[in-house]
This record gives sequence, C-alpha cells and structure tokens, in this order.
Amino acid sequence: MKALYGPCEICGNSQWEIQYQGRIREGGFGNLSPETCYVARCSNCGIERLNEKACKDEEFYEKGNYKNLINEAEEESSSRAKRNLEYVQDLILGERAGQESFVIGEIGCAGGHFLSQVEGLGKEVVAVEPSMLYHAKLAQRGYRVYSMSENALEDYGRKIGLIFCFAVIEHTQDPLKFLQEIKGLLAPGGSLILSTPNRRDILMEIGLEGYRQFFYRCVHRWYFDRESFSFCARKAGLQVVEVKSIHRFGLSNAMAWLKDGRPTGAAALPHLDSPDLDRYWKEYLSSRGVGDFLFFKMKSEQGSL
Ligand SMILES: [Zn+2]
Repeated sequence: MKALYGPCEICGNSQWEIQYQGRIREGGFGNLSPETCYVARCSNCGIERLNEKACKDEEFYEKGNYKNLINEAEEESSSRAKRNLEYVQDLILGERAGQESFVIGEIGCAGGHFLSQVEGLGKEVVAVEPSMLYHAKLAQRGYRVYSMSENALEDYGRKIGLIFCFAVIEHTQDPLKFLQEIKGLLAPGGSLILSTPNRRDILMEIGLEGYRQFFYRCVHRWYFDRESFSFCARKAGLQVVEVKSIHRFGLSNAMAWLKDGRPTGAAALPHLDSPDLDRYWKEYLSSRGVGDFLFFKMKSEQGSL
C-alpha cells in the first residue's frame, strides 16, 4: 500500500485498509476504468480514498469534460436542482431571519440551476464554479462569479450567511482544505449545507458487488460516511449541527439491482409501482441512515472565527 497511498490528507495517518480492488465506473453504467483501481480506508479517520493514479485531475473539471463524460442534459440539471431544494427545505428555514444584507453562495454551482431557485434569499449571490463554460451565464444573472472559493475570500471573507455545496467535495483534491476555504467565507453564525454520496447506503451495506463497482468511480477521489465526514468537518473548524440521509430512488430500483445487477432509475417493477410504498421505503432508509446521499448542515465552531 505504501506505493499507492501516502499519509491521509485529513488526519496524517499512514495506515490504510483496502476496501475495493478492481475496475470501477468511468462515466455511465457499463463503462469501466481500463485499469485496476484501489479504494482504501484510513484506519484513523475512516475516510475512503481512490488511489491517486486512478483519479481525474482538476483540469478535467475546469475544461468542463466531466459534464461531457456523464453526458448530463440541461433538463436533468434542472430537475436535480429542484430535488436538492426539496431536500434542504427544512435545513434553510429561518436562515435569513431579518438580516438586510444577507449574502448567499454556492460552491460548484455549474449553470446556476439551484441558485436561481434560492437567489431571492440573498441580497447578493456568490457563484463559485471551476468550469469557465458557465461563467458568462452566471454573471448575466447578476451573480458574483469566482472559479474557486479562495479567489472569493478577498471580497467575501466572513460575509456569506448561507452557502450550499452539492456533490462536489468527493471530487476535490483535498477535502479538508476545501472545507477550510469555505469556512473562511462563512459569516459569523452563517451556515454551510453540503451533500455527498453516502458510502453506507443500503446497496453498499448489503454488499452487492456490481453496485460497489458502480458506486466507486474515477471522478470521485473521496467516499464519506456520516462519521468520517463529521471528523473532516471538525478538523476544518466546522460543527455539524444536522445530518440527513436521503434516498432518491423507489424500492424497484433496489430490487432491479438485486435482480439484474444494473441501475434502472425510477422504472417500476411489477406490483412495486406504489407511491406509498416508495415513500415508506425512502423514509425507512432515511431513518436508518442508509439513503444514497448525506446532507450536512454546519456552522463555524464557536471560538474558531
Ligand atoms: Zn485519515
């Protein structure tokens, strides 16, 4: 393992335990990495990491290649933004509370689909997005646009009351540094709401081999569960004040994985097309913490600002 893994970027520990070894997803289902990849868990802080050689570098995102690789349609981005708003609705209640000059922001906002839904919350909107492809469009909407959080620090250090960041941290070079930079932007008492895939979702917990090969992917360097993320947040000076596990798919999706070993999205299997059943399934997984996404609400730790 020494050749593949250096000291843990989060805690400095050098002991890693291999969790997965083999080809992993590169793009959509069925496209696999040409080479064997390794995912190992830090024996101290519990974060899981893909071996560096198998990871896509930052330039990959800056040029917008990632969106091509996953071939994401505009419509899909828009419906995902709507779902994200649904998931965070209870987390943002009362966030603005009478503050006149409230600033909101999103890190990794792509074309701004989510921000456009919540822009009314802020007097100013800060859009952080590494891919230049979106910058003109975001600026047209009146947002202040930056490529990275650290570039926004001079103008917005300790000024943003509410920051969102959906499914970005798993891609970053260094999640600790990433969180520390976002923390630098948070206004005193401000909140950060962040999501990332849950490596302990129901199909991972069952240990379905085909799903594990699909779950681990070349564009994700890091894989979190509730505890390992909270450790990393604490280390960055952030306190997790709420955690939610969300499951995006109905029962048919899991049954189809078990039956055929492949993703079927929202397509229903016979007799499993009941909205009530799906609602119960999603709520049940959520209550057990084994939904496929984690949402964290964080605040700056007292005394660390
Ligand atoms: Zn560690």
